[in-house]
Amino acid sequence: MFSLPEGHRACLLPHLYKVAVVKKAQPQVHDTVLEGNGKLILQIILLCVIFQFLLKILTAEKPMMNFTFYNPTRIHFGEGQIAKISKEIPKDAKVLMIYGGGSIKSNGIYEQVKEALSHHEWSEFSGIEPNPKYNTAMQAIEIIKEKNIDYLLAVGGGSVIDAVKFIAAAALFKGDDPWDMLAKQTKVEQAIDFGVVLTLPATGSESNSGSVMTRDGNKLFFGSPLVYPTFAILDPSVTLSLSDRQISNGVIDAFVHTVEQYLTYPVNAKIQDRFAEGILQTLVEDGPLALDDDTKDNIEVRANLMWSATMALNGLIGLGVPQDWATHMIGHELTALHGIDHARTLSIVYPAVLKMCKTAKREKLIQYGKRVWNLTNQDEQELINQAIAKTEEYFRTMQVPTRLSDVDLTNSDIDPVLSKLKQHRMVMLGEHQDIDLDKSREILTMAL
Ligand SMILES: [Zn+2]
Repeated sequence: MFSLPEGHRACLLPHLYKVAVVKKAQPQVHDTVLEGNGKLILQIILLCVIFQFLLKILTAEKPMMNFTFYNPTRIHFGEGQIAKISKEIPKDAKVLMIYGGGSIKSNGIYEQVKEALSHHEWSEFSGIEPNPKYNTAMQAIEIIKEKNIDYLLAVGGGSVIDAVKFIAAAALFKGDDPWDMLAKQTKVEQAIDFGVVLTLPATGSESNSGSVMTRDGNKLFFGSPLVYPTFAILDPSVTLSLSDRQISNGVIDAFVHTVEQYLTYPVNAKIQDRFAEGILQTLVEDGPLALDDDTKDNIEVRANLMWSATMALNGLIGLGVPQDWATHMIGHELTALHGIDHARTLSIVYPAVLKMCKTAKREKLIQYGKRVWNLTNQDEQELINQAIAKTEEYFRTMQVPTRLSDVDLTNSDIDPVLSKLKQHRMVMLGEHQDIDLDKSREILTMAL
């Protein structure tokens, strides 16, 4: 459906009104009728010209937006890089190593980190859960105060890193409740320095300034330039011990991060577009290989997946381009309400978003179909449908659900999601901010 923005609608109204008046005031005399009809035709032609002109303005390609690029995280990529920790962390720092459920103790990562920290004074805090919780993070702050910790080291995936970002800022928070940084978007004034050893490539949190935390069923976001990690170690060999589920979740999260910054509307941002297409093609090629018994131990596959996930959300492909994020916002509510893995909420919601936004995303869907999936169909509508079908098929190849029914949710589970979106003011989603609660309902219904 084509609809004009408020301002343009107002411009057209006087012309429409004139036509209506002319129609009503048609004279009875034949010649005068002809004269009146001539005027009417002229006015209609004029109206068409104005309409076409406005349509041209509205559908014209908008230019890339201004941007400032800043990403201070130093990346050490490759096997054996964990040893670099010893040089990255100041010698006199009092370090708190923070990790999750303890898998790092069975896959050798803990020993490597311990070795690298052998000349530092350090303590540890474990138990950060997936979808990290406020209460757990606050326990780490007690240790920080008690031991005068002044440097944090996150060893884990996105959940551990996000929790450490929160802990780093919350430990120095001056107000009453550090949750205000998320609930009220209170500005972060200072944060403890921290580094990262990445064990699960997925969220890109190792080199960006955002964090998502959960408290009492509310999964909220905060961001600040003060919570960029100082450094991040990306050793692909540490990902060899991940389960298939962790791998597929990581690949899907990275894929959806990329399309949410790419599959919107064109602004002639060629570099960002082609970087995004390169990331998507890599994930399409190598994602399934990491699940295949014959290739899952291939370190080159793991290296490409790890770097793809970082590049997908380190800020680069999102510079100066419109961004969507509707799928993430709806997905966060599904995780908060039902505990579904983050990536699996995305694989359920995203195909439905594409189906509903076919018109709004038309040009980029065609570009995506041609460049990422090598589709050649001459019929544009058919090409768009194929591109969406390919996306869904790929998700299934990656062994993730693509329907709410795949995770045993039904029509009656939609209203609670909408209430949460309303509570969190997520009522203008998408690159056009036009996905309101009714459209979110349509998306979720399509995803049933
Ligand atoms: Zn994500």
